[in-house]
Amino acid sequence: MVTSAPRNLFGHDREGLRDVMREMGEKPFRADQIMQWIYRHGVSDFGAMTNIARPFREKLAETCTVSAPEVLEQQESRDGTRKWVLRVGDDALGQAVETVFIPEGQRGEARYRGTLCISSQVGCAMDCSFCSTGKQGLSRNLTAAEIVAQLWFAAHALGGNGDLHNQRAITNVVFMGMGEPLANYSAVLTAIRVFLDDFGFGLSKRRVTVSTSGLVPFMDRLRSDCDTALAVSLHAADDALRNELVPINRKYPLKELMDACRRYTRDRGHKMHIVYEYVMLDGVNDSDANARDLIRLLGDMPAKVNLIPFNPFPGTSYTRSPEARVDHFANLLRRRGLITTVRRTRGDDIDAACGQLVGRVNSRQRNRLGGVPVVSA
Ligand code: SAH
Ligand code: SF4
Repeated sequence: MVTSAPRNLFGHDREGLRDVMREMGEKPFRADQIMQWIYRHGVSDFGAMTNIARPFREKLAETCTVSAPEVLEQQESRDGTRKWVLRVGDDALGQAVETVFIPEGQRGEARYRGTLCISSQVGCAMDCSFCSTGKQGLSRNLTAAEIVAQLWFAAHALGGNGDLHNQRAITNVVFMGMGEPLANYSAVLTAIRVFLDDFGFGLSKRRVTVSTSGLVPFMDRLRSDCDTALAVSLHAADDALRNELVPINRKYPLKELMDACRRYTRDRGHKMHIVYEYVMLDGVNDSDANARDLIRLLGDMPAKVNLIPFNPFPGTSYTRSPEARVDHFANLLRRRGLITTVRRTRGDDIDAACGQLVGRVNSRQRNRLGGVPVVSA
């Protein structure tokens, strides 16, 4: 008898799940019921889905799963930041990604915000020179199921059992974990559709942010497919420096990137702006001249700038710009009318930088597995 692997229902948006129902000879509206069980009630056991007839529940249990990844390591910071290393797939070597939760304010308060930072790939092929994930290279794309499951899992871990919607520990999702989301476009798009669906996580488009190093054609596709909030990892405002820091700039240089940014925000009202991320590297991109280049580049754009103090990791030759330099740089931008924030470093007492914890877990596993790298570091 040929048995195929069970289908993980986390991997389907509403339309996809309706197709699955049709294939199984059921009415498409069953998909809506199942999604509400999974995402509203946080149920992963088909047996508990009581408005579905028992024979179909049994058939679902035989052919499908709703399965979240296994936790390899977790850390909690004094400031409430939580970080999980999750095993993805059934790869014998156990590839891993990180998911990070960053709370601001108290749950229940109007100003509360709980941001979940999720991964889209195991490693990354973009090879940005200051990025620990980039240094690992790309192992593989995550599936849509593995992306969606990060949010489902975190909502549970944060105490949303029973009603993932109303607990609302997580108010915002950002694709700022491991990987370049637009290099794994179709899985990321399916996941976003589940995040936005009222029968899914019910998040608004403004609360889901895709962060990209600048994959221009996919920025246009995202704009037409679901126009979520967008963050662009700029890091340099001239092509020579950006070629060095963000090598994809050689393929899509600043002129093309900024044109794509203009297209992304066009006809979207004044509220729509792009957040430009700018990592502060001591003596590399943090001079007054660099600030002037940035002002020139973004001057007429609906833009916010987010300065990120560099997070060092073993083996890097970069260092973080001194705090006074970051403040001075921020003030130069503000004086010329650019809305500028400085990212507070969170979770400093745990391995804060993207990709760091995975690096540590892997070197331990490497030992255990007798020298086989889990993610090539
Ligand atoms: N690949 C996507 C999203 C993930 S990285 C992107 O590059 O946009 C999220 C942000 O963290 C990006 O702006 C990235 O450039 C930045 N980043 C990566 N490594 C960093 C480090 N060591 N210190 C500070 N920021 C870093
Ligand atoms: Fe990839 Fe983003 Fe890291 Fe660049 S900064 S290597 S795009 S994860």
